[in-house]
Amino acid sequence: MRVPPGVSPRDFSEALKKFEGAIGKEWVFTSDDDINTYRDSYSPFWHEAEEPIPSAAVAPDNVEQVQQIVRIAGAHKIPLWTISTGKNLGYGGSAPLLGGSVVLDLKRMNRVIEVNDKNHYALVEPGVSYFDLYHYIHDRGLKVWIDPPDPGWGSLVGNALERGGGYTPMRDHFDCHCGMEVVLANGELVRTGMGALPNSKTWQQYKYGFGPYVDGIFSQSNLGVVTKMGFWLLPEPEAFLSGNVVVGKHDDLFAMVEIFANLMNSGIVLATTTVVSPLAYGPDPELAALRANGSTKDLEDYAARKKIGYWSVSLPFYGPADVVAAQWEYAKRKFSAIPGVRFEDRASYRFPLNDDQLAKIVNPVPFGVPSLQTFSIGGPRSQGHMWFSPIIPMTGEAILEAQKVFDQVAKDLSLSGGSVGGFPVWNFFARAFVIIYFFPIEHDVEKNRKNREVFRRLIKTAAEHGWGEYRTHTAFMGDIMDAYSFNNHSLLRLHETMKDALDPNGILSPGKNGIWPKGMRKARA
Ligand SMILES: Cc1cc2nc3c(=O)[nH]c(=O)nc-3n(C[C@H](O)[C@H](O)[C@H](O)COP(=O)(O)OP(=O)(O)OC[C@H]3O[C@@H](n4cnc5c(N)ncnc54)[C@H](O)[C@@H]3O)c2cc1C
Repeated sequence: MRVPPGVSPRDFSEALKKFEGAIGKEWVFTSDDDINTYRDSYSPFWHEAEEPIPSAAVAPDNVEQVQQIVRIAGAHKIPLWTISTGKNLGYGGSAPLLGGSVVLDLKRMNRVIEVNDKNHYALVEPGVSYFDLYHYIHDRGLKVWIDPPDPGWGSLVGNALERGGGYTPMRDHFDCHCGMEVVLANGELVRTGMGALPNSKTWQQYKYGFGPYVDGIFSQSNLGVVTKMGFWLLPEPEAFLSGNVVVGKHDDLFAMVEIFANLMNSGIVLATTTVVSPLAYGPDPELAALRANGSTKDLEDYAARKKIGYWSVSLPFYGPADVVAAQWEYAKRKFSAIPGVRFEDRASYRFPLNDDQLAKIVNPVPFGVPSLQTFSIGGPRSQGHMWFSPIIPMTGEAILEAQKVFDQVAKDLSLSGGSVGGFPVWNFFARAFVIIYFFPIEHDVEKNRKNREVFRRLIKTAAEHGWGEYRTHTAFMGDIMDAYSFNNHSLLRLHETMKDALDPNGILSPGKNGIWPKGMRKARA
């Protein structure tokens, strides 16, 4: 039997018995077969002793059972690792950061408590997946959209707590939450925002309540177990329109991004897109040779000859049909300041889509429809992946600097994938870009070791340039938190102060985002 670190087998057996008493024997999992289902199938530690494997898993059905579990864990100093649906692939899956932790699996708590299509919100439990909520809404013909991330099998709660992103104007999932219910490490139940007011009528309509706004301390954190969460939904839009902006010269990027940022910050473009270089991809050997050895002028000439442009950005608009048409016209007027710019009309839809229309859409996710088709990106190329995802300024200069810096690291360390525009930039969040760079995972110890080294080097290089990651795999949480070091790590020290006050036994997700309980902290350099 695996046991949590620092816990004797006898004590652990006693705690497991108490867990069984609290939630039923069938919901306490200790067999190897069961535990294997909680391992990270994209682990960068495959076949290595360092892979963090849980000692057990417990799956409560309701808030009272969660309270009992944390109280038992507190009494026996058992580390818990909370998951909602545990589909956090690319960032650790359902596995804990600390091997031997007991996974607190909230999948069974999958009740949709309310969906309101007059004020456009939902209140859900952690085990509700995007598919679950979509079907709930669809079955009742409610006129609201959810905003799924690429894979729809994850939970709204887990995704938002990790500050994940989607595609519609509700794309910043933590920003679009409104109100939480949280079990603290001592078993106390707290409701945030207007939820603190008994019989509140606006828990999902007004975020802040009264007094300090604490919701943020429960995201990417280990200070509580979130048992309910409210989300703002998008009223079903009348129409969608997208148009592509293509520019021909390398230096057009500066004006293109400046105009794009203006459109975003003015609320004209509100949905997710990416600035790309059509030159970054494609099997043409001539292009591959130019990418390797050609000059900027050669690439510009190639782009002109092939009519593909040097840079492009596709603009998505959601709303009334005449409004989205006017927004596209306005965007074209702004981009026309760039000599030689070209515009391409792309998709145009009226909602609701019927089944035939939906079946023809390759990726329905930007239309509020959850899907799993994204997994085609992992299959043939690797046995999994993780992402390196730094936040960079929303400027052309920053894109070029990041490309240059990361391309160099990629070349130095013979990492595949680095090339002009090979580190795509996204606008998942307002006001800044995020690079989402795909890192392969193999069932090969040497390759994974090398990739981990490259990853750590990228974190350091990014920090030297003033860029920090927004989220990461459990394997690198400590490295990234280390980089956020202003004033002798004062932010981390604040997190640790809160950790010590709220979770003195250190039972909730030890090490999450680099925050360790007192007894497990390493000396800082
Ligand atoms: C091919 C592919 C594409 C992807 N695309 C996207 C994308 O477009 N956008 C995106 O955001 N992500 C994306 N992901 C990452 C990931 O799959 C999703 O973010 C997924 O929704 C996270 O899994 P989950 O919802 O099951 O969260 P969980 O695994 O349940 O939770 C994630 C983490 O949040 C914390 N947590 C969860 N629940 C609680 C709780 N109740 N209380 C306290 N802490 C909690 C825990 O630390 C947990 O490890 C992608 C992954 C893959 C493999």
